[in-house]
Amino acid sequence: MTKTSKSMQDVTALAKRRGFIYPGSEIYGGLANTHDYGPVGIELLRNIRNLWWDNFVQRRDDIVGLEASLISHQEIWKASGHTSGFSDAQIDCKNCKLRMRADHLIEENLDGKNVEGLTVEELGKIVKENSIKCPNCGKSDWTDVRKFNLLFPVNLGIIEGDQSLAYLRGETAQGMFINFKNVIESTRVKLPFGIAQLGKSFRNEITPGNSVFRTLEFEQGEIEYFFDPTETNWEELFEGWKKSIWEFITVKIGINEENLRWREHEEKERSFYSKKTEDLEYNFPFGFKELWGLAYRTDYDLSAHEKGSGKELRINNPQTNEKKLPHVIEPAVGINRIFLMVLCDSYREEENRIFLKISPKLAPYKAAVFPLLSNKPELVDRAKEIYADLRSEMMVAFDSRGNIGKRYLYQDEIGTPFCITVDFDTLEDGMVTIRDRDTTKQERVKISEVKKYIKEKI
Ligand code: ATP
Repeated sequence: MTKTSKSMQDVTALAKRRGFIYPGSEIYGGLANTHDYGPVGIELLRNIRNLWWDNFVQRRDDIVGLEASLISHQEIWKASGHTSGFSDAQIDCKNCKLRMRADHLIEENLDGKNVEGLTVEELGKIVKENSIKCPNCGKSDWTDVRKFNLLFPVNLGIIEGDQSLAYLRGETAQGMFINFKNVIESTRVKLPFGIAQLGKSFRNEITPGNSVFRTLEFEQGEIEYFFDPTETNWEELFEGWKKSIWEFITVKIGINEENLRWREHEEKERSFYSKKTEDLEYNFPFGFKELWGLAYRTDYDLSAHEKGSGKELRINNPQTNEKKLPHVIEPAVGINRIFLMVLCDSYREEENRIFLKISPKLAPYKAAVFPLLSNKPELVDRAKEIYADLRSEMMVAFDSRGNIGKRYLYQDEIGTPFCITVDFDTLEDGMVTIRDRDTTKQERVKISEVKKYIKEKI
């Protein structure tokens, strides 16, 4: 029997044991909400990243890429509204000093009550009126709810003070708006078109753990898709984006559709400039949570930067000779959340093994090659030849340690779809055994056919 249900502990234990994710700064006692990606984790993360870039930039003729600086001018974040409005509501337990997000505290205690858009006073009132208890010490003795800005300030150079203040970017999106004019002037794009970016963002978040779901630094894949609302119907465009995102997640990443749903933001939850926002949510072991946000943001961002910078960001419509600010639809996803979703969705437990049913396209290693015995040079040499031949075209592992059973267990847990074994028969008939990760079925395949066999399946 295969068990698909999993707990966060099962997934994080496997992730640590097999080198997907390690706790950040571990030998110094750890640094909360930071993580390091190990040898197989980084391969999975890069495969997700590359697939995203390939799908949304390289294979499209209407989207161009960008990589903006992580350290950015303080005025960008003033103009965008982040220095004043980009904050979480924080509350502390006076008894045990636990710090939490007030919205999370309420949602967890009052059965998913939606508190988006409420003021700090309103949140504080709900906590008091319901005598919500601290999940750590059980007391109900809370501070007032306070706003806490998420941006990470950095001081440049040796002069401290306002002049040298910059910010680590809190999202990649602003890079697209501040370079909008540069892209228009240096390329051949015309509306509708998108600018995409894949890279790190930083937020000083209070987080409840849950592995890499919410961390201080994380990677975003964002697209700002610009269009003229008098020429392009935004509702159709929005629906088109929903389809592209759904297809990417279910077909390319291979996630089970039953674990996914779209959730539309209610009016009070939406930013005032957004006409429509929907989140694609995944059913993590800790509940349905946002994976990918899709928002129609009107011309709010470009217009804010026109005001903030004093530079004109309008573009000319050659037909009417009119200068206008385009509107924008923004699909924004966290690459690390896709990573965590892939681990959760692919985790399988059977009586005597655990395996990750990761789509072969994303698997860190596409295949592993073993000599049946490590002390027989004729087997080892033949296995090494096959390994070298495959490695010229894909990520493959070679393993001669321990017995075959142990090697299978290891490869199953890192999601390697095929294991190839060279045995004594191979020396006679030129065939190897290929074992399938998901079914554990074994097949004899000619050495000359091995590469083709694997390529057809990945
Ligand atoms: P949330 O409501 O979960 O805080 P958000 O609505 O603030 O997310 P956006 O600003 O829309 O998130 O960012 C786009 C995407 O970036 C999110 O859908 C999510 O996948 C990812 N993301 C945001 N914050 C984090 C974080 N602290 N750690 C990891 N990923 C994140």
